[in-house]
Amino acid sequence: MPPSHVLVLNSGSSSLKYQLLDMTNGESAAAPDPDAAPERKATGIVEHIGEPTGPADHTEALEAVADELAARGAGLDSPDLAAIAHRVVHGGTRFTRPTLITDDVVAEIENLIPLAPLHNPANLTGVRVARRLRPDLPQVAVFDTAFHSTMPQSAARYAIDRTVADEYGIRRYGFHGTSHAYVSRRTARLLGKDPSEVNVIVLHLGNGASASAVRGGVCVDTSMGLTPLEGLVMGTRSGDLDPAVIFHLTRVAGLSPDEVDTLLNKRSGLLGLCGDNDMREIGRRIAEGDEAAQLAFDVYTHRLRKYVGAYCAVLGRVDAVAFTAGVGENSAAVRGAALDGLEPLGIEIDAVRNAVRGSAERLVSTDTSRVAVAVVPTDEEREIAQQAYSLVRP
Ligand code: ADP
Repeated sequence: MPPSHVLVLNSGSSSLKYQLLDMTNGESAAAPDPDAAPERKATGIVEHIGEPTGPADHTEALEAVADELAARGAGLDSPDLAAIAHRVVHGGTRFTRPTLITDDVVAEIENLIPLAPLHNPANLTGVRVARRLRPDLPQVAVFDTAFHSTMPQSAARYAIDRTVADEYGIRRYGFHGTSHAYVSRRTARLLGKDPSEVNVIVLHLGNGASASAVRGGVCVDTSMGLTPLEGLVMGTRSGDLDPAVIFHLTRVAGLSPDEVDTLLNKRSGLLGLCGDNDMREIGRRIAEGDEAAQLAFDVYTHRLRKYVGAYCAVLGRVDAVAFTAGVGENSAAVRGAALDGLEPLGIEIDAVRNAVRGSAERLVSTDTSRVAVAVVPTDEEREIAQQAYSLVRP
């Protein structure tokens, strides 16, 4: 048997998430099925890296993961391991597909650090440590931005001076790409269609949140931009605002650029509006008649509805709206409010179906709705593993 396991690593500044997946899972080598669900062999997270309660650094963290996997008979030296796949947040314009990691690729990811100062350095640390431990094994980088690289210039460009924009790489890149890719494809399958035949609006609503417009499997617009700050209202991020708010905060309120950065990324969104960033807590407070929680919910769902309307216009024909991630998969109230009043656009949510809780992929629209409304749990690790395996499979 050729090696068929892929170890997916998602390396953050103080945590290392991992999943080991068997990509063959009953599939015939002669007729590979890209939609076959891989078998999850192991999954876990090492936290508090560099803190007194955790491992000293990422090397120690990955060694702990290797020990854990070895105890299950699937260590880093296992002959079943086909590749290690790394989630990398920012691929700039350079990386538009899964990429085999070489010294040059590492150097180029490093060059992109100014565009993702919080994420790319941590991702790279994971890459370096894994390459040191298994220098002989193919290692693949899968980029959060890649799925959005197909956006036309009309959607990707900001209307600012082109020379300045090009010199500093200022454009819209988009994030959560592996989730948007996975969910749009699964939604097409749920409708019994090929992804190339289907136009989908994907709403990824987790702590971070983003929308995308996907035409025939190809992303044509997304709500996040140069950084993951643009677009929808999020747990702690503002999403869209007038850029002049920033000048006002620096000139009138006397905040430094770093203070504005922290305000908009960490103290805004749902948290800024009502003091809570967890939609469950906000739901509880609304049930008790809390006005600030209600306002936060209303601003959040109004923004969502605006993006759904905008992406209906971008796509022309829409076959499905798909909700995913923590809020999208679990909050019937958010789904209902986001699509409320969109019947003239052919979007009819079914209140009873929408209220049913579950973890399966499902439709929550009425039978007469022209546009299907779907709830599709995301699985970024599976998508990352699949993309990496497609590059290295024998
Ligand atoms: P991340 O962006 O960190 O991956 P997730 O996709 O896990 O986030 O989503 C986390 C968010 O999902 C939580 O902050 C919470 O607001 C929301 N959430 C989780 N479960 C529920 C639920 N049952 N009802 C409403 N919201 C939920």
